[in-house]
Amino acid sequence: MAKFILIGSGLAGGLLAAYLGRRGHEVDLYERRADPREGNIIGGRSINLAISTRGIHALEQIGIAEEALRYAIPMRGRMIHDRSGALHFTPYDVDPQKCINSIGRAALNTTVIEAAQCYPNVRVHFDHRCTEVDLDTAAAHFETANCTVTASADAVVGVDGAFSAVRKSMQREIANFQYDESYLAHGYKELTIPPAPDGSWRMEKNALHIWPRKSFMMIALPNPDGSFTCTLFWEFEGPRSFATMKSDDDVRRFFGEEFPDAVSLMPTLLDDFRDNPTGSLVTIRCAPWFFRDKVCLVGDAAHAVVPFYGQGMNAAFEDCVVLDECLQNFPQDRERAFGEYFHHRKENADALADLAIGNFIEMRDKTASKTFRAKKKLDHFLEAALPGIYLPLYTMVTFTRMPYATAAQRARIQDAVTYVTLAVLALLILGSVLFFLL
Ligand SMILES: Cc1cc2nc3c(=O)[nH]c(=O)nc-3n(C[C@H](O)[C@H](O)[C@H](O)COP(=O)(O)OP(=O)(O)OC[C@H]3O[C@@H](n4cnc5c(N)ncnc54)[C@H](O)[C@@H]3O)c2cc1C
Repeated sequence: MAKFILIGSGLAGGLLAAYLGRRGHEVDLYERRADPREGNIIGGRSINLAISTRGIHALEQIGIAEEALRYAIPMRGRMIHDRSGALHFTPYDVDPQKCINSIGRAALNTTVIEAAQCYPNVRVHFDHRCTEVDLDTAAAHFETANCTVTASADAVVGVDGAFSAVRKSMQREIANFQYDESYLAHGYKELTIPPAPDGSWRMEKNALHIWPRKSFMMIALPNPDGSFTCTLFWEFEGPRSFATMKSDDDVRRFFGEEFPDAVSLMPTLLDDFRDNPTGSLVTIRCAPWFFRDKVCLVGDAAHAVVPFYGQGMNAAFEDCVVLDECLQNFPQDRERAFGEYFHHRKENADALADLAIGNFIEMRDKTASKTFRAKKKLDHFLEAALPGIYLPLYTMVTFTRMPYATAAQRARIQDAVTYVTLAVLALLILGSVLFFLL
């Protein structure tokens, strides 16, 4: 059995530690933050997330899905709020049982860390910030509150998120390391809709709420305490943007114009807007994700994506499943295992990055249109009429474990066939009408 150092006990770090611990490996998991169970907030990140089939599968494999999903709230479709306050509900799938689940980030993080700690061969060290990794020796350097520490192992896994220190060491030391980061012009800010006085939800609980406004949007996911966490995705700069919100009046006016039905449910809007940070949205692509048998990257450290498909964590969890399988398949050859994992995941992570950006345009712009709703109805009709043959893209990404790249490719083919068929049908109908008229 090997000795692993994992850097980062976020969502994927905790889960991967559990997977490796189960196999009998020695695991030391280092986290720069304090223990989340001591009441620390996972700052600067979303309060809740949508977990779906891929993420749930990864939790099931380690036997913690039921516990993790205990307080999750199923969301069966999109509830679109137009400017007049009118609502339109579009189910995610023709099968009403297929839903995504709103889950609290902090609780899920605690569940995966505790799952890892069930194994006596897993040790978790909080308040250790990794500063650098020596790739050749698999040694990691840390800063703690009062000293610096160095630890070494057979391999170091960077599960330390989008701004990974492990990846930075790889960038410095690996010749021709490919790295690309691109930021959206949009940032995000989290806001709150509190529960009603009787503790109930002030909007439909089992839906993901969207206020699509063409170049920007707000969404809201339900929490178990009756509240909703709203996220406003908006341009950082521009004539109407985060930058132009100089006073409470500006914020009040903007929300009154754009989200009139929500603003009446947001008594803490002005405080939330002022106090909560504005986050940035980055896509990171890099290669390779490993160095010999010594270092490997998992989750956002390898492939951060924008959050519009609700798949970043799901993909990070899927990484853990695949890496675990590869290590199992090549127990004597860790370099091969890392290589197989990278080759299996890289094209899928790249495909997801593109899908996530595409879905931003769909959510903020197209969901408001009748054409979008008609396309969803057509999707559901074809899915029911051609079971197993036609699967809408959203269904493949969210409700199956089909590789992301395969799903994207299959959707392109399906769309082409559907549009050609519709065009031929339209021509036939037109031809018949003309035939009878002439
Ligand atoms: C607004 C928003 C909404 C999102 N919504 C969803 C969603 O609905 N569904 C979904 O699937 N995904 C969603 N995501 C994406 C999801 O949050 C990430 O993909 C997921 O958190 C990745 O997990 P990770 O473990 O790789 O990284 P992280 O969760 O970022 O964890 C990294 C950990 O490493 C630690 N760390 C960092 N640097 C160091 C260091 N130098 N030394 C030691 N420790 C370190 C951090 O403190 C952290 O604990 C969303 C993201 C955002 C920003």
